[in-house]
Amino acid sequence: MPTPIIYAGASMGRRSVKIKNSLILKAVLLLLAVLSFAFGLLNISDDGLTMYAFDVGQGDSFLFRFPSGENVLIDAGGRSSAAKVVAKLRSLGVEKIDILVATHPHEDHIGGMTEVINSFPIGKIWDSGYNHGSGVQRSMLNDIRDKKIRFGRPRAGFVESIGDARLEVIAPRSPISGTNSDANNNSLVLRVVYGNVAFLMTGDIEVEGRRNAGVFPRASILKVSHHGSANGTDSRLLREVSPDIAILSYGRDNSYGHPHREVMKLFREFGVRTYATEKGDIKIVTDGRKYSVEGGAGAK
Ligand SMILES: [Zn+2]
Repeated sequence: MPTPIIYAGASMGRRSVKIKNSLILKAVLLLLAVLSFAFGLLNISDDGLTMYAFDVGQGDSFLFRFPSGENVLIDAGGRSSAAKVVAKLRSLGVEKIDILVATHPHEDHIGGMTEVINSFPIGKIWDSGYNHGSGVQRSMLNDIRDKKIRFGRPRAGFVESIGDARLEVIAPRSPISGTNSDANNNSLVLRVVYGNVAFLMTGDIEVEGRRNAGVFPRASILKVSHHGSANGTDSRLLREVSPDIAILSYGRDNSYGHPHREVMKLFREFGVRTYATEKGDIKIVTDGRKYSVEGGAGAK
């Protein structure tokens, strides 16, 4: 008589094991789903290309973190935000800057260079080649010489491959002089390309710099030239580049009135969404097909 009970018990036992197994299976499947979702998100941020537009007040500083691990810093902001830029880089875990770019020798772009050069190992430095002769440029060039950092002045057409991504030099094609601002017009203009997503980084080029650059390549993301000044952007540029979004870097209540109203009007006419560092740091992440933007929404 006890046998059926045992059997029943055994049978119950087997059933309960089955139920437990199926619960464990469900839990494992759920965990796998959660992990693969999280891993998918991580894939975009960790394996993709990330660009940070730092809030440095009235100035420029942009960090690109490449999928293969390299860091490229385009400009270092002014002297007043130098410590802030270094702190931001450290908080992001940056240990080395592979390419440090000085788009042109104005203080709001290279004032923070000394602090950056003294805080991180630098692979090499790219400069526009325009000799401004200012104290801030001389001190940057002295730092480069003292630390024996590789230094180059690449021209339009030069391409640096960085893993699956690339850094293209768009301008200057040749040095230009006699313009409203030779420093601005000789700005290094770069395009960062990863898959189908490109960023056009225009420094502070003005009318003559744009003319000298020739036809601009397309880019989903446009770093607006010269902090949104009227001389930095025109309809030809927007037609050629055909950006989806524009990143503006300017300080709140700056004395130049940046961004200028006519530039913001052009963006509206071309249906370009605008983001501004005035609202804080901006982060763009791309997997080479799509991209996401965090922060900085709604420039003036
Ligand atoms: Zn500037």
